[in-house]
Amino acid sequence: VGDRADFDTEVTSVCPFCGVGCQVSLKVKDGKVKYVEGINGPANEGRLCVKGRFGFDYIHHPHRLTKPLIRRDDAPAKGLNVDPANWQEFFREATWDEALDRAANGWKALTEKHGGGTVAGFGSAKCSNEEAYLFQKLIRQGFGHNNVDHCTRLCHASSVAALLENVGSGAVTASFNEVEHADVVILIGCNPVENHPVAATYFKQFTKRGGKLIVMDPRGVGLSRFATSMLKFRPGADVSMLNAIMHTIVEEELYDRQYIEAYTENWEAQKAHLANFPPEKMEAFCGIPAATLRQVARDFATAKSGMIFWGMGVSQHIHGTDNSRCLISLALMCGHVGRPGTGLHPLRGQNNVQGASDAGLVPMFLPDYQTVTDDSIRRHFTTLWGSDDFSSEKGLTVTEILDAVHAGQIKGMYILGENPAMSDPDLNHAREALAKLDTLVVQDIFLTETANYADVILPAAAFYEKNGTVTNTNRQVQMGRAAVAPPGEAREDWAITMALANRLGLGWTYSHPREVFAEMKSGMKSLDNITWDRLEHEGAVTYPSLSPQDPGQVIVFGSGFPRDGGRAKFTPASIIAPAELPDADYPMILTTGRQLEHWHTGSMTRRSVVLDAVEPEANCSLHPATLRRLGVEPGGHVRLTTRRGTISLMARADRAVSEDMVFVPFAFVEAAANVLTNPALDPYGKIPEFKFAAVRVERE
Ligand code: SF4
Repeated sequence: VGDRADFDTEVTSVCPFCGVGCQVSLKVKDGKVKYVEGINGPANEGRLCVKGRFGFDYIHHPHRLTKPLIRRDDAPAKGLNVDPANWQEFFREATWDEALDRAANGWKALTEKHGGGTVAGFGSAKCSNEEAYLFQKLIRQGFGHNNVDHCTRLCHASSVAALLENVGSGAVTASFNEVEHADVVILIGCNPVENHPVAATYFKQFTKRGGKLIVMDPRGVGLSRFATSMLKFRPGADVSMLNAIMHTIVEEELYDRQYIEAYTENWEAQKAHLANFPPEKMEAFCGIPAATLRQVARDFATAKSGMIFWGMGVSQHIHGTDNSRCLISLALMCGHVGRPGTGLHPLRGQNNVQGASDAGLVPMFLPDYQTVTDDSIRRHFTTLWGSDDFSSEKGLTVTEILDAVHAGQIKGMYILGENPAMSDPDLNHAREALAKLDTLVVQDIFLTETANYADVILPAAAFYEKNGTVTNTNRQVQMGRAAVAPPGEAREDWAITMALANRLGLGWTYSHPREVFAEMKSGMKSLDNITWDRLEHEGAVTYPSLSPQDPGQVIVFGSGFPRDGGRAKFTPASIIAPAELPDADYPMILTTGRQLEHWHTGSMTRRSVVLDAVEPEANCSLHPATLRRLGVEPGGHVRLTTRRGTISLMARADRAVSEDMVFVPFAFVEAAANVLTNPALDPYGKIPEFKFAAVRVERE
């Protein structure tokens, strides 16, 4: 960095990585971000993790896309790995007009021949709220259907399904900073030290002031050292463990009778169901002694205030919605919702996955989770947009869209800032689908693995090169600001989407994201009292905000829930086994996730000098005893095989994983974890079972 006082300008924005949404000050020198500091945002109070502090330099990487590209007529087959330094064999540079015409004309030819439903879209949780809103509007207004989705389908779709069903809202009921007022906190299926590092600092402070931390996870995650109780349960056994805890609360009459009577429904059915799950019977299923289950039940139920946080260890299962239903029931029966130090909080992954979902970038909901099946709701939006009606059928989800490509039902796609050639389960299947598309338009900042399959590539601005709002895991809407100009001819995503919309004849006339935000407010009550000007001046406002002066409600549902009748609901959950169990051929359990230094498919963080230097090589974690059994030294290489494929990578010794398990981060293209993963879906959230597959591990 050199002299830290030597910069030209200073711009306030939001970290582009995780859902914590840390506010940052970007110090700019000679048109480049020189360094980043944390500032006093509501979620981070000056703190940053290694990604936020050092992971900004990808925006100045020489691999950035700077001109539109069109696939050459004589290009080799789609899907071959395109070397970013030697892309000319596959693509040729084009003018913006030529590339936009090629994209729109390709889609129009498909819709004229096969109908509007033949073109689908994947938007991005890395874009702003305004960009997510415009993307879903383009698909619905331009193609007349709802086949539009984004990576929420791969992270918390099952949590949102359970929350909408039982609480009436898909967002958190309290910010993570509320742990300050909690007595007991349950963390389950999440690893904040690696995935939400600044949130993890609040959990550590909570334990330092004497709070009881209960960590539940099949891996011994980083915060287990701070835990009062660590429940390292068998992978996939969440429901048996949680039902046993709730059974104890019922049996010992520790539940909050008054709260249940005043604010909930279906309690009797839940109580009767829980009678089948005594801890003494469940300990064999979940691997946690009955005495521990009973003690945890007492600790949580008798606390004055308790919170539950969860991550993708809960959601990424074929029973992910059931897992979340159990957590919601546990909080409700103890009355731990709607008061200081209480709440339900699925820790959201991407920096704007909450906002992109709120903005309607999902196939079943328009903005604010208003169902596409309701005629009056669709009419509201078609009037707002000045457009014809569109389909009343819920659209296809991420993995269903790629299945529909295989089936010949979808032939064209618009993919903005998503990388399904790395992020989808069973990658060989996903990549074969991308190769089959007649017109694939990819809009991104790098030649991603998905761009290898593109017909047209549109160069986009990175997060620190554009203006727009984002919504973090706490429901805080924050202002992201451009600090530097995009390289070459790259443009802001909203402007590219608008240019495509207008080539489809939609007649959009926005001149700035603030105009898009104003339009969004017409269809989203959640944004009442939040204006662009407020966000410019205040930096962040939490929704709901009850007046133009209200900074927003950090805790919600203290006096009822946004469901018919105002009551939250208990939905009983039964034990469902993972879709693929270990057997003689595939005797171990594969689980996947992120690691501290790398973000998702690695396109940004692997191009960051510091982050790539710290974690440069594809790796997996195995228990030392497993390594000894395989005859592999720590740092040696292993081969992992599932029914879907094989990868080879370096093995680390890690006592956090049990002896029958292997953990693989999914950021490394040279050993892509998702070649191995199981595409089986949760029936409600349609989320794949990334957290459990049967695998064979061999010495390489
Ligand atoms: Fe960025 Fe998340 Fe780290 Fe904060 S905790 S600096 S938002 S990656």
